[in-house]
Amino acid sequence: MSKGMLFVVSGPSGTGKTSLVRSLVTSEDGLVESRSYTARSTRPGEMNGVDYHFVSRITFDEMVARDEFLEWANVFGNLYGTASADTQAHLADGVDVVLVIDVNGARHVRESKVDATSVFVLPPSPSVLESRLRGRGRDTEEEIQRRLDVARDEVSAFSEYDYVIVNDDFDATVEQLRAIVVGCRAKLPDMDAEALAIATKFVPR
Ligand code: ADP
Ligand code: 5GP
Repeated sequence: MSKGMLFVVSGPSGTGKTSLVRSLVTSEDGLVESRSYTARSTRPGEMNGVDYHFVSRITFDEMVARDEFLEWANVFGNLYGTASADTQAHLADGVDVVLVIDVNGARHVRESKVDATSVFVLPPSPSVLESRLRGRGRDTEEEIQRRLDVARDEVSAFSEYDYVIVNDDFDATVEQLRAIVVGCRAKLPDMDAEALAIATKFVPR
């Protein structure tokens, strides 16, 4: 069975990564979003095992010590990580996996030499980013300013990624993301086995 492909999606907080990826995975077969582990507390409306695996700081530290994370990072003072076993299980089943992680986490994935296609999502402008952070109605004013500060440093990381998309019109951006996934699926050597199976059915003249 062919192995699945790994995708990494990063971008400033509030740019729309989570909404885009959730929309894509519900409308694209064979693609799942990785569920991260976090040591932060749950926000109203969040559910353990749905939004994240919520674990204690002790459990998170133990997972780090046992080297169970493909990558992990401290984001806005909280710990988040992608479990290697979860990701590997999907990939081994031939399912593609998308990680929605911060810029440092994406760097760790690159350093790990795991094969991954990375996508950076930019907001159309700083003011649009600010209004999305406010519109989400989730963070305090202090949190919003902190996220905007981090975004000022983070946006220049776009050059480290394979693809960059600007999340202006939502539906159009989901389709751009889908096009990247579909395009990657047609790449060699991933298509080698399937192509060879068909090619060998053609009897040479
Ligand atoms: P992130 O995961 O990058 O932090 P979210 O997915 O939480 O961002 O999106 C932040 C807010 O922006 C949400 O309220 C979401 O509904 C909204 N949003 C996302 N994409 C768009 C878009 N293209 N146009 C308008 N609003 C958007
Ligand atoms: P939030 O607390 O708003 O859900 O997430 C905050 C940030 O943490 C987001 O930018 C998100 O991309 C990042 N994040 C979520 N899960 C992971 C993860 O597993 N690893 C890393 N490195 N970042 C993550």
